[in-house]
Amino acid sequence: MNAIEKLVRKFSEFPGIGPKQARRFVYFLIRQSDAYVGEFKREIDELRSDITVCAECKRYFAKNGAAKICNICADGSRDRTALLVVSRDIDLENIEKSGSFAGTYFVLGGAVPVLDKEPEKRIRLKDLLALVEKRAANGLREIILGLDANAEGEYTGEIVSRSLVPLAEKHGIKISELGRGLSSGTELEYSDPETIKNALKNRQ
Ligand SMILES: [Zn+2]
Repeated sequence: MNAIEKLVRKFSEFPGIGPKQARRFVYFLIRQSDAYVGEFKREIDELRSDITVCAECKRYFAKNGAAKICNICADGSRDRTALLVVSRDIDLENIEKSGSFAGTYFVLGGAVPVLDKEPEKRIRLKDLLALVEKRAANGLREIILGLDANAEGEYTGEIVSRSLVPLAEKHGIKISELGRGLSSGTELEYSDPETIKNALKNRQ
C-alpha cells in the first residue's frame, strides 16, 4: 500500500468520514507546503503531549502545570449538587456553549450499542460510580442523564441508571433524564442552545 492509500485508510476511520472525503483530505495535504505539513504533524503530536484527562469528570483538557482536574471541576462557583452525565466531550462542550447548565459533568467516553454484553468496556461506569460515591458525601443531590435521543443513547441510559440506582437510593440522590424536547433521533452534539435549555428545564 502506498503513502496515499495508507493515509486514505486512516482518514476513513475518522467519525463521519467516508473514503471519498478521506481521499480529498489526502490530496489536499499533498498540495500543501512543507511548513503547513510540519505544523499539522506538530499539532497532532501536541494532542498527545499537551492534553490530559480530568481526574474527576474525565473530560480531556489542556495540561495546566500539575493540575489534575479541569477548569470546570476546579470552579468553586459551579453547582455541585447536580451532575450531568454525557457520552462524549463534544456533548459537554455543546452544553457549555448553550450556557444553560451551571452544575458539574461526567463524561462516559462513549455509548453502549444495543444489547452489547460488556458495557463496562465501552463506558466509564466504574469511574462514574466512584465519583458519585465521593460526591454523595459532598452534597450531590441529582444526577442528570444527558444522552443522545436515539436507540444507543437510550440503551446507555438504561445501563447507567441501573448501575446507579443502589447508590442513589442509599444517598437519596435523584436520577433524572433530559426532557425529550430533543426530538427522537437527535444527537446532543448537534442540538442548538435553545433545545438544550428546554431539555434541561423539562428534565424528569
Ligand atoms: Zn473535570
